[in-house]
Amino acid sequence: MKVDFNKGNGLVPVVIQDNISLKVLMLGYMNEEALAKTKAKGLVTFYSRSRNELWTKGETSGNYLHVKEIFEDCDNDTLLVKATPDGPTCHTGSETCFKENSGKGFLYQLEQTIDERIINDSEKSYTNDLFKRGINKMAQKVGEEAVELVIEAKDNNDDLFKNEAADLLYHFLILLRAKNMKLEDIEAILKDRNTSK
Ligand code: AMP
Ligand code: ZN
Ligand code: ZN
Ligand code: ZN
Repeated sequence: MKVDFNKGNGLVPVVIQDNISLKVLMLGYMNEEALAKTKAKGLVTFYSRSRNELWTKGETSGNYLHVKEIFEDCDNDTLLVKATPDGPTCHTGSETCFKENSGKGFLYQLEQTIDERIINDSEKSYTNDLFKRGINKMAQKVGEEAVELVIEAKDNNDDLFKNEAADLLYHFLILLRAKNMKLEDIEAILKDRNTSK
């Protein structure tokens, strides 16, 4: 990795992204020494422009950022660090310095919608009705949709296959909710398997 520190008078901007939620957590600056220390300790260390000193994020709050991966941009003058935070990253106590940035795709929005339907005990909501019928019923629906997907896999109708795949994902999310688990929890396991091989 050959980082170009010259353009920014010895500093490069560094975007910190949560490794699992994909939220952008904060932006800071590193000089060559801060980057070396970040790599050596595995903890994000910035150069503080106001204090003119190296600053390991979390050194007073305890909310360290554990480095997972470091990427440079197309012309090597900006870094992206994927990290796992020990706690809120913003000094205001917020998870991220950028409010309301979900960083997440539609499946996570759907997970949120499912959660809202259940919490609000929404009338005329299929999701909420199914939830109220209990865990066995929800698990059974996942089984049924899985079987329907298997059946469509043997046919040559792409539309039917896609629709059954969507049914399965949707019911899978409801079952996760019933088990009080988040899509993120499952993703973390897959990610872990993927990097430990
Ligand atoms: P910490 O590195 O979390 O121990 O915080 C040490 C000090 O760094 C705080 O008192 C703030 O002044 C500053 N600080 C911490 N986190 C941030 C942040 N996300 N953005 C800007 N300044 C921060
Ligand atoms: Zn660039
Ligand atoms: Zn902040
Ligand atoms: Zn179906």
